Amino acid sequence: MYGGNNMAAEKRRIAGTREWAVAEIDCCAGCSHGCRYCYARYREVVATGRIAPEQWPKPAIRGGDVERDYPLYDGQVMFPANHDIQPEIVDDCIVVLQKLVAAGNKVLVVSKPHLQCIDKICRILRSNREQILFRFSITAGDDDILRFWEPGAPCFCERLASLRHAYAQGYATSVSIEPMLDSENIVSLVAACAPHVSHSIWIGKMNKTEQRVCCEDEETPVRLQRLRQGQTDAKIRDIYSRLKDNPLVRWKESIKEVVQLKLAEKPGEDR
Ligand code: SF4
Repeated sequence: MYGGNNMAAEKRRIAGTREWAVAEIDCCAGCSHGCRYCYARYREVVATGRIAPEQWPKPAIRGGDVERDYPLYDGQVMFPANHDIQPEIVDDCIVVLQKLVAAGNKVLVVSKPHLQCIDKICRILRSNREQILFRFSITAGDDDILRFWEPGAPCFCERLASLRHAYAQGYATSVSIEPMLDSENIVSLVAACAPHVSHSIWIGKMNKTEQRVCCEDEETPVRLQRLRQGQTDAKIRDIYSRLKDNPLVRWKESIKEVVQLKLAEKPGEDR
């Protein structure tokens, strides 16, 4: 997952996950993917101290969020938003997904996908597949880059295999290249994903790096500098000009403001 987790004030700028969904649903605290730019970890561990640093990498199911009933929301909902669907918690995640679709919801399932989890979800939710839109976070095609920024998440091949599998099973599929970790090669990444995408490919920058990315080691500042050089306004305009005619490609708010596209006006409007 990635993006701003802000559902509070309707009048606020529509950014992050609010572009995609009217509500965020989670059932777990913590995430073992360990992304260095993680907004959820920043908020829960650094900003509020609600979760101890050593606890964050150990996903802990919140039983109440699995056991509760869910209403029919007024638009597409996103699951999960502040953790991921990992093998050790996939069964609880499926219980929540079943409740959401049973209530009639359209659910955006966002994940750095583990193939075994996606296969299980595809099999169990098959009869409700019209209500599911997968959005897989495939932020680079280079495993060296993925291993640095997202050290606990699946490699590129597993994410692509998950995308291919969900598409072949007849589910609606989309990709999130946010944050784009390797902007130099984004056109080839879009080309690799596109044959298995039925809905959209979203592209966005890494936001609030100075706040969220911890630079206490030697390597991170070097990697971060390289990443920032890849998302300057000039680079963004170049990427936009190369991909703007691809009908699958959609732009997150961080790109729209550089190339002066209209921003979403209501949560869940830009899906
Ligand atoms: S996958 Fe996990 S660690 Fe990575 S950004 Fe999402 S919640 Fe954070």
